[in-house]
Amino acid sequence: MTLAKAYAAQSAEKPLAPFTIERREPGAEDVEIKILYCGVCHSDIHTARNEWGFTVYPSVPGHEIVGKVTRVGNNVSKFKVGDTVGVGCFVDSCMHCANCEADLEQYCENGHTQTYNSLSQDKSYTTLGGYSSHIVVTQHFVLSVSDKLPLEKVAPLLCAGITTYSPLRHWGVKAGHKLAVVGLGGLGHMAVKLGASMGAEVTVLSRSAGKAKDAAELGAKHFKLTTDKDTMAELANSFDFILDTVSAQHDYNEYLSLLKTDGVMIVVGAPPQPTPVSAFPLILGRRSLVGSLVGGLKETQEMLDYCAEHNITSDVEVININQINEAYERTLAGDVHYRFVIDMATL
Ligand code: NAP
Ligand code: ZN
Repeated sequence: MTLAKAYAAQSAEKPLAPFTIERREPGAEDVEIKILYCGVCHSDIHTARNEWGFTVYPSVPGHEIVGKVTRVGNNVSKFKVGDTVGVGCFVDSCMHCANCEADLEQYCENGHTQTYNSLSQDKSYTTLGGYSSHIVVTQHFVLSVSDKLPLEKVAPLLCAGITTYSPLRHWGVKAGHKLAVVGLGGLGHMAVKLGASMGAEVTVLSRSAGKAKDAAELGAKHFKLTTDKDTMAELANSFDFILDTVSAQHDYNEYLSLLKTDGVMIVVGAPPQPTPVSAFPLILGRRSLVGSLVGGLKETQEMLDYCAEHNITSDVEVININQINEAYERTLAGDVHYRFVIDMATL
């Protein structure tokens, strides 16, 4: 066992503060990683503040981890000391169910172990995430990261990148498709970059007028304000796909009517509150409303390699760890351009 410096939430009401945690000694299959950067995902906020209702305290968030390997176990063949690596949203799964065998560990039928706030496979402890000095992860759940790209800009790919890449690939988004991205935050800005790189004509649907210029620079062809009462009528039956990244409750029905016949609305945003869905926008146009969770390990590696090849990274604002509570407030206010990333050297 080693001690790791970390930042933790002790309750839903308290700000995150310094805390010391324990990490296991690397076992035969394990990789120990010194964390260099950790992105700040809106899921971290939902969890730290118990908005989804299942947070175990103390809670150390963080699942967009980039760092250097410091130790490896005897059976580790994929990595050696000094390698640059990443860890995303999962650190374990059963490894033998149909989904794990199909490289879909995120849908493990026996319950995956997320990087934080999740039971270990032997159910003996709750995981603690990347707002910490180091982490120990079994090699299957560790990704190779190219040293060609700035590492602080790579960290958000481990969640925001794969969460948007995976559904775009699964539903075959490509040139000729019209794609709307709802919400221009951490996930949304990656969806714009990735969707545009795959050839789709991207429209950003946002409630923030100030983001129009950024949307164009990120690769969007069009920008429409959802607070403008004419927008929804004007865009009816326009899109092949809608990728919804919004973090707070909103009306899915309004967006469904923007799909063409056979169009697909993919929900990745995870508002804590449920939203009623009417049958009518689905029936009238044979439309689909679907969801997607992050991505498997094989696909995450494919995404990292794709981003390295196409020079795609996240637009980030690097912060010191003691600015984390302020960063949460700014994220909630929509004032993030477009991902906060913690420089772990400041821990
Ligand atoms: P974020 O950076 O805060 O971006 C969310 C964006 O949603 C905001 O920038 C804002 O964009 C829009 N928005 C926020 N509140 C809104 C409201 N009340 N009404 C309308 N629009 C609103 O968050 P993120 O890190 O991208 O995460 C987004 C969501 O995805 C979170 O719920 C997170 O938990 C979830 N998530 C899901 C997965 C998955 O596997 N499915 C993975 C990671 C994260 P505009 O200002 O442009 O409107
Ligand atoms: Zn995330």
